[in-house]
Amino acid sequence: MTKIAGGFGASELFQFLRDGEPRTRAELAQLTGLARSTISLRIDELLQHGLITPVGEAVSTGGRPPAQIALNPGARVVVAADLGVTHGRVAITDLSGAILSHVLEDLVIANGPVEVLDWLALTITKLMTECGRPLADLVAVGIGLPGPVEHESGKPTNPPIMPGWDGFDVPAYLAETFPVPILVDNDVNIMALGERAMGWPDTEDIIYVKVSTGIGSGIIGGGVLQRGAQGIAGDIGHIRIPRGTGVVCKCGNEGCLEAVAGSPAIIADLRGAGHDVSTVADLVALVKSGDTGAIQAVRQAGRDIGEVLTVCVSIVNPSVITIGGALAQAGEHIIAGVREVVYSRATPFAAEYLSIVQSRAGEMAGVAGASIMAVERALSPEGIDGMGAAKAATGD
Ligand SMILES: [Zn+2]
Repeated sequence: MTKIAGGFGASELFQFLRDGEPRTRAELAQLTGLARSTISLRIDELLQHGLITPVGEAVSTGGRPPAQIALNPGARVVVAADLGVTHGRVAITDLSGAILSHVLEDLVIANGPVEVLDWLALTITKLMTECGRPLADLVAVGIGLPGPVEHESGKPTNPPIMPGWDGFDVPAYLAETFPVPILVDNDVNIMALGERAMGWPDTEDIIYVKVSTGIGSGIIGGGVLQRGAQGIAGDIGHIRIPRGTGVVCKCGNEGCLEAVAGSPAIIADLRGAGHDVSTVADLVALVKSGDTGAIQAVRQAGRDIGEVLTVCVSIVNPSVITIGGALAQAGEHIIAGVREVVYSRATPFAAEYLSIVQSRAGEMAGVAGASIMAVERALSPEGIDGMGAAKAATGD
């Protein structure tokens, strides 16, 4: 797309329409300080690409009502993939995050990047066909992986439960099939993004905690996901807790939160006490059946998580902590344990305004967050410029 002096092209103007709110040309001229004639040129470019569309008619005090324009969410699509240890959830969404097609399948992340990413590529192609969109409509891919990821490069870094993935160039591999921006992040980070969008759009400071086989958190501070220097921010599962003395973690250290309060540890304890339980689903069912041993074990896990979250509260000062992940299905018992410790130990002023609740986004948090991450990139000025270049290259 062409740019005027000062670098204010169609892609920059588009940023004022990303929120989906309809605006008139006059309003856009006022917002940007650009001349009406320039606004009209830029709008024509965006209309040609289908990214915006005329909508309704603005309320006018008389005369001809000025035409409004707004983002056209159906103009393009993105892929949102939430790949876990044993399953993959993949969706095609429009630019507003609305799901157009969606699948949940078993996969084994430990089978390595080539097998898993080939499956993902095939699944994306199938889903695109299913929702009747050509591959040319795809503008970005967002992927969450169950381990630490260097977000800048999209490469996993020493993921403990993902053999073969360390340093693998996920974006480069998938770009051979899908020549669009491919963004990769840790799954808990994208879940935090999804949780905020679906449950807490007006809350600026949130810690989302995933409790399942592993334990991790995603931190949103000032409305922005905090990844940290190496993408490790929020990786609370390997913080040492007092009750973990003598317990060896799969990371090689001793006393990690995850090794004590993750579902495998709880399940092993319950089996030792004679319970017939082997999966997280079994554990949740046992808790829901009212078994006192299981309830006490889950509540204790909540207290252990609370030990670590108490420290996080002092550092991050969130207004909401939400608990998600498979073990959160055990309901209030785990949250009660977290509250018991955090509310009694956190700084009174921080605790007074802090809610500790179950995740509102539930199992769709990851896909919602992956979609947000992909759309963010696709609709950025660089993303919009890229779409223009791609269209020009295909002569479309
Ligand atoms: Zn550990």
